[in-house]
Amino acid sequence: MTGLHESVFSWITPRLRQLPWRDTRDPWLVLVSEVMLQQTGVQRVLPKWEAFVAEFPHPRECARAPLGDVLRLWQGLGYPRRARNLHEAAKSIVSAHDGLVPSTQEGLLGLPGVGPYTARAVLAFAFEADAAVVDTNIARVLARHHGRTLKAREAQLLADAWVPSGEAWLWNQALMDLGATVCRPRPACDECPVASSCAWRGEGDDPSVGSAGVSVAQPRFEGSDRQARGRLMKALSELPVSVAAVSLVMDRAPDVANRLVDDLTRDGLIVRDGDELRLP
Ligand code: SF4
Repeated sequence: MTGLHESVFSWITPRLRQLPWRDTRDPWLVLVSEVMLQQTGVQRVLPKWEAFVAEFPHPRECARAPLGDVLRLWQGLGYPRRARNLHEAAKSIVSAHDGLVPSTQEGLLGLPGVGPYTARAVLAFAFEADAAVVDTNIARVLARHHGRTLKAREAQLLADAWVPSGEAWLWNQALMDLGATVCRPRPACDECPVASSCAWRGEGDDPSVGSAGVSVAQPRFEGSDRQARGRLMKALSELPVSVAAVSLVMDRAPDVANRLVDDLTRDGLIVRDGDELRLP
């Protein structure tokens, strides 16, 4: 443990954001939170995570449910392929791992939809293993603190080297909160516990711009295919929709609506039943 670790731990102790997935080490509940947080902000995830884990407290319940039930609970989070992958992961956990979320990187990476980031997050946040995660907030802190734009591999190696042995859970949470509350796109360096060793400190060009893993502005939602798909998924979470009505429901020209319906069907997120579309 170095002075930098001690500074960060003293800073985070009274400030750690209270989030329900931080109160558990149940790997299934942690996995659900990580999949939800991949492309959706914390505030939108909070009520959805609560509802999801109340319905599916164990992968067994999720695996048994039809995909349509999983998609209904996902409604409002966007990017519903994540729900399909999580459903597939639940089935794999039950069939290949006796209902237990794997505790190794290799085992986790074998689950549908689980990539290196999510595998590391589950290792650190559920199993308290010495794994470093590099989310968008941590990527920003890393690039700025080291004073240079980082490639993905370099960012991961630096993050790995920073993890204090046996303290990965709190260390990763602390860096995430540091990036979310202090080292924000517009940083508050005066309030930062690592300012004395930071190579950037807000002077000159920001090294996090273009650095691996640092989020860039999302494409416009208004008028996007994502918005149109979301409208259809929302309508289907309540009732089947007639094929003739998809253009109206999606508020898009018929050729665009039909193309998006084809995409969703191919992805297994909706099914056609005669003249109607419904959730699987
Ligand atoms: S000193 Fe400023 S730029 Fe450096 S890590 Fe802290 S908040 Fe970020």
